[in-house]
Amino acid sequence: MSRALSILKEVFGYPDFRGQQAEIISHLAGGGDCLVLMPTGGGKSLCYQIPALLRQGTAIVVSPLIALMQNQVAALHEIGVRAAVLNSSLSLDEAVNVEQGLIQGQYDLLYVAPERLLTARFLNLIARSQIALFAIDEAHCVSQWGHDFRPEYIQLSVLHERFPAIPRIALTATADLHTRQEIVERLGLDTAKIFVSSFDRPNIRYQIIDKTNARNQLLNFIRAQHRSEAGIVYCLSRRKVEETAAWLSEQGLRALPYHAGMSMLERGQNQERFLREEGIIMVATIAFGMGIDKPDVRFVAHLDLPKSIEGYYQETGRAGRDGQAANAWMVYGLNDVIQQRRMIEESVAHDRFKQVATRKLEAMLSLCETTTCRRLRMLHYFGEAVEAAACGNCDVCLNPPEVWDATVEVQKALSCVYRTGQHFGVGHLIDVLRGNPTERVKQWHHDRLSTFAVGKDQPEKFWRSVFRQMVAQGLLTTDSEGYGALHLTETCRSVLKGQQPVFLRLQTKSQRASERREGVTDSVLLSAAERYLWEKLRYWRAKMAKEHGVPAYVIFHDSTLQELVRLCPQTEDELRLVSGIGVRKVDKYGSDLMAILRSA
Ligand code: ADP
Ligand code: ZN
Repeated sequence: MSRALSILKEVFGYPDFRGQQAEIISHLAGGGDCLVLMPTGGGKSLCYQIPALLRQGTAIVVSPLIALMQNQVAALHEIGVRAAVLNSSLSLDEAVNVEQGLIQGQYDLLYVAPERLLTARFLNLIARSQIALFAIDEAHCVSQWGHDFRPEYIQLSVLHERFPAIPRIALTATADLHTRQEIVERLGLDTAKIFVSSFDRPNIRYQIIDKTNARNQLLNFIRAQHRSEAGIVYCLSRRKVEETAAWLSEQGLRALPYHAGMSMLERGQNQERFLREEGIIMVATIAFGMGIDKPDVRFVAHLDLPKSIEGYYQETGRAGRDGQAANAWMVYGLNDVIQQRRMIEESVAHDRFKQVATRKLEAMLSLCETTTCRRLRMLHYFGEAVEAAACGNCDVCLNPPEVWDATVEVQKALSCVYRTGQHFGVGHLIDVLRGNPTERVKQWHHDRLSTFAVGKDQPEKFWRSVFRQMVAQGLLTTDSEGYGALHLTETCRSVLKGQQPVFLRLQTKSQRASERREGVTDSVLLSAAERYLWEKLRYWRAKMAKEHGVPAYVIFHDSTLQELVRLCPQTEDELRLVSGIGVRKVDKYGSDLMAILRSA
């Protein structure tokens, strides 16, 4: 293990292993199989990259994502590791060259797309080469239930059958038990050692707030907390993606759209810009994101409710992979609940699927409406036994909502639904409750009902929140015809009879969690001189990135630049002590950096 540690220091420039990295590396380097479950940003790549350097021969890394492979290889070249890619982006000549290189042992790591790996030609090539290990990245792609399912992944079991002596490591950031079992089964990993890390992402601040005017709320959030920082905004529909991206651009932000309806070319270009340029906001459907390993995404915003906690966790997990402070921000309202419920109803899937989908949505809703720490809720959902205290870094912890006994108000609302015949949506119901004599109210004679105006002492916003929570708690459902009319459910019987109290959360006015926070770098760097040096280093980094044709973070991460500013090393020996600077980078950039730092 001392060799592993010196590789970590000298090649990668990091002082210590994180979490279970050391154990995993030692197990794999010793020839054992393993399954690694680690959250995004946990440091999975090193778990196979270091054994690849420790063991004889080439490590074959299977990954489904071309862009990701190329960036990983570029980053490895930067630190002097011999790596190559074999996928459909290569010309025939290039591919043949790489194949020759493999046989001749020219690479420490070779990244291969699964469909390429599974060809008879490539399997024969493996048989003729010295292979250090197989790494199967994004292993949850074997799961037919997940939305990242790749049929070729199932056939990867052939690796074990044909090459039983070569150790394998499968890696995923998907947390649920079901997927875990599927990976073990389908990849034949029964005897593999399983390493499960906590799925907590302590640097991500979770916030779920009431939707009033989603676009403006988003704009205010970005302006207040994420000026010129990179982020992802998720929307449900392609149209909304287009509209939101266009609108943000009109407001002077650098926003780009991404969805499956765009041409491959355009999508690829936008993704490339998001990865390479700094401070781009990607407005996208969930088609975007898998395998985006950009470490400095500072926020993920949801304008629509995700279908499940799994989805929410995965999407928000793309923020803050570098471990620095990041925000997961979402606005959510009654229409989101109605829309998601309708999508389940209208889907052509069989009943069992609908039941599962409904249960997942309900878990997501209870996360939205929770009055206790959101992080603990999520970790519990993933089956982690956390006795930990509340996290202190979610909106509920920072600004605990008041809980109030809403039984009487809920009874008023339920009886209003009942007396209007369960034919109306929330807008009309609120008009009746608040005593608004609209045309519609008069036309239906709802101004003569006993519930007319019984709720006039509360504003519309209050009633919207009550209805939303009632739907979320299952006291009301929407009709299947899709007009948004609300119906009573079985559960509301005992509430109407006064046998069961209902507690709701009161949205407090000050939302401390969403108040102005300085950008990450703003809060870390204090003096004007530090800020000046920071800008100088960033400028230099952008120039280098351009020259080398790689994203800026491949040259140095933000955290490395910050440490440079803080420590301001004056010799190359001191430079080596900075986290993220290995031997190769000192060789390459040491003199440039010294010139900048000495002038500071
Ligand atoms: P994952 O694949 O699990 O999402 P990565 O392998 O991309 O995560 O690692 C996330 C980030 O953490 C990368 O920028 C990586 O360089 C950094 N990292 C990984 N291990 C360490 C370590 N031991 N010390 C410092 N930084 C690390
Ligand atoms: Zn919390």
